[in-house]
Amino acid sequence: MSPTVISTIAELRTELDDHRRDGRSIGFVPTMGALHAGHASLMTRARAADEIVLASIFVNPLQFAATEDLADYPRDLNSDSELAGECGVDLLFVPTVAEMYPAGTLLTEVRLPRLATKLEGLTRPTHFTGVATVVAKLLNIVGPCRAYFGEKDFQQLAIIRRMVDDLSVPVEVVGCTIVREDDGLAMSSRNVYLTPPEREAASVLRLALDAGEAIVKGGASNPEAVIAAMSAVINGEPLAQLDYATVIDPLTFEIPANLNHDVRLLVAARVGRPRLIDNCGISFEKVL
Ligand code: AMP
Repeated sequence: MSPTVISTIAELRTELDDHRRDGRSIGFVPTMGALHAGHASLMTRARAADEIVLASIFVNPLQFAATEDLADYPRDLNSDSELAGECGVDLLFVPTVAEMYPAGTLLTEVRLPRLATKLEGLTRPTHFTGVATVVAKLLNIVGPCRAYFGEKDFQQLAIIRRMVDDLSVPVEVVGCTIVREDDGLAMSSRNVYLTPPEREAASVLRLALDAGEAIVKGGASNPEAVIAAMSAVINGEPLAQLDYATVIDPLTFEIPANLNHDVRLLVAARVGRPRLIDNCGISFEKVL
């Protein structure tokens, strides 16, 4: 069944207040639309845990820099609604920009500079302030019990978890594993920008993570060796332009002094038009 589409904050609150009054748990999946199997995994996870499942589709101008693809970000409400319905989503919140930002601009922003200026933040300095601000606003609008986010955007997930902790937002943040294409490419709405040769080349991000993982699991203690190996794989693909390949402590986001604890490998590269990101976690127990 297709979800009920709601486009105003007032209407959504009335609908959700009724469910809350009846004691139903609300699960929330925020997205920018152009839904694919990665989004579907979040919605299915919410369906299994919560009585009411709400997904939002909002291409948030605050998180795009002037040079980025806000105007032509892929949009298809009909197919999004169909996929959301197949996943058992009850409500689809699709606000306009004017509904979310009626004054045109916000005077309030949520900033987490210590996390947001690293990695993605070096290339996209305003991005995470836009993300944290809109997610805070959406969580205030919806008031969910649980909110679902993908590990695909690992730094974003860490920022949202920290924002929720720091501001005591009453929601459980659920991180969901990365859904991939058969060749290992992480699913992303921006993959539609890839030409066929670029699409083939794009699996190099996963190959780089595999190379890094093999080195860590082989017992390497020096993060630089892992970084060098991942960079070499991406630099070996002529259609890919490396942005970063790194290994971090998933709690501090710093490169660790050695590899004798849990680490996260992260890569970012431009392949043709889109800038793609991917990551994988390695737990120390699995290395031993
Ligand atoms: P987006 O529409 O790109 O803003 O993504 C909405 C949510 O879906 C975010 O929490 C993403 O991390 C998550 N997501 C996007 N792609 C994937 C994927 N391939 N696997 C798992 N989650 C994903």
